[in-house]
Amino acid sequence: MSNAIELIPLGGLGEFGSNCLAVRYGEDMLLLDVGMGFPEESAYGVDVCIPDFDFLEEYRDEIRAVVLTHGHEDHIGAVPYVLKKFNVPVYASRFTMGLVEHKLDEHDLLGDVVLHRVEPRDKVEIGDFEVEFIRVSHSLVDCFALAIKTPVGTVIHTGDYKVDETPVIGEPIDLRTLRRYGQEGVLALTSDSTNATVPGRTPSERAVIPDFEEIFGEAEGRIFVATFASSIHRLQIVFDVAQQFDRKVCVLGRSMVKNVEIAERLGYLDLHEGQLVSLQEARKLNDDEVVYLVTGSQGEPRAALSQLSTQSYKGLTIGEGDTVVLSARIIPGNERAISKLIGEIYKRGAKIIDEKRRLIHVSGHASQEDIRIMTEAVRPKFVVPVHGEYRMLYRHKEFLRNHMGYAEENVILIENGDVLALDGERAAVVGKRDVGRTFIGESGFEEIDREVVRERRQLAYDGVVTPVITIDSETGEMEAEPEVVARGLIGSDGNGAGLVRDMRRVVAETVEAATSKERQDASLLKERVRVELKRYLQKQTGAKPVILPVVVHL
Ligand SMILES: [Zn+2]
Repeated sequence: MSNAIELIPLGGLGEFGSNCLAVRYGEDMLLLDVGMGFPEESAYGVDVCIPDFDFLEEYRDEIRAVVLTHGHEDHIGAVPYVLKKFNVPVYASRFTMGLVEHKLDEHDLLGDVVLHRVEPRDKVEIGDFEVEFIRVSHSLVDCFALAIKTPVGTVIHTGDYKVDETPVIGEPIDLRTLRRYGQEGVLALTSDSTNATVPGRTPSERAVIPDFEEIFGEAEGRIFVATFASSIHRLQIVFDVAQQFDRKVCVLGRSMVKNVEIAERLGYLDLHEGQLVSLQEARKLNDDEVVYLVTGSQGEPRAALSQLSTQSYKGLTIGEGDTVVLSARIIPGNERAISKLIGEIYKRGAKIIDEKRRLIHVSGHASQEDIRIMTEAVRPKFVVPVHGEYRMLYRHKEFLRNHMGYAEENVILIENGDVLALDGERAAVVGKRDVGRTFIGESGFEEIDREVVRERRQLAYDGVVTPVITIDSETGEMEAEPEVVARGLIGSDGNGAGLVRDMRRVVAETVEAATSKERQDASLLKERVRVELKRYLQKQTGAKPVILPVVVHL
């Protein structure tokens, strides 16, 4: 397709997290958000994963900017990594930029990059694009949808959003500007699908206030509120209700301390005079005079809440008479950790209140009726569901078809790596790029090779086998019977000595059958032994251990 806009998702489609969408027109490319995600459980020693930016090398001279919608980690977590590869300017709201700066500082990049802070309704020219930043509501503050104008049409990218007319902090969603674009004509809407399976409207951030007031009114001892450190509206509510009930607030946990500091400094959080106290000051207060605002709502073992309930956090422990409020949803995959955490808190004799008991959490994402409001405002020719697992993208499409009259060909389901071309009339997937995952290790910020992660998994499931072969350099004959050492391989210990004996036999036969050239060349011999042993083990036991032959020439 000539003269077309290309949309290429690098992450966030068909998965939770790692959101990144490349938008290309002519010889200009924008990256909308560059987020991180969490790898599956068997990626040992891997903390987070980020999109694989390798294929962007080809467009190195075309990438004009990184444009950020909001400050959640699944939208900004990979910013330092992408800037290390492509040092392009970054556009973001003041609050989002506050979080990005902190991140860049950790990576020692702060002095080397160009950062542009933008306000709602700002329009900037970037290459052949004109980008307008449009206020949307979400669980954190200062979030944008993006209107991207090109010569062939306008693309609106919602970012994460919900339709909240009464947010706790800042302006409500700017439906007026969205409608204006709708009237002018919008070619495509790339739209948040996270809650596309949920009927009705998503409640306003304010909806949780009455239940927080009730809980604070009833509590006689200390109160611990665990929530996402990025849920700034929620934090403000906790500060406000605490003030109402004459409680001081003590903030615990690295990310919570950081976010409260940034949000207060930039004027998003409005704290009452003397309300924030240090742990030392908090300890001197009576139990009914303090609220602890803590990290760890997902049961993360190293976060404050887990430590408070299993051992102690900086000398503080949850105990009898305390009330613990889990003001967050369970992110899929964390069910077991949270269940365990709740058990630990019960053991301590404290009371637990989670979202099933009281309205203490609302989602930050658009439910079906919010999606209707957004789509009716923008009236796009094409809709491309983004941000979500495939099930959610599919249900988003189904909703638009069944309840909003969209035709099959006007709602386009694509996956990571698909190149979707839009020329104003038609939309078609015209290519597929190789977009994988890059793993980031627990210590420091280093990338871990995919092969290493694969090998760790193999070691964990099937163990390791090391055949040791000794060859006489002069004769090329085996000096002695080969040795085989195995670890973590079923059948190789105790009465499984038979398997080790059999492996020694296989190795010996392989060496005997090898040519004299192979016997003189350690790498050739190792490879041959590895292949034979692998074949034998797979046939006999089904196991695929890591095989590391050692050849010694004497
Ligand atoms: Zn978000």
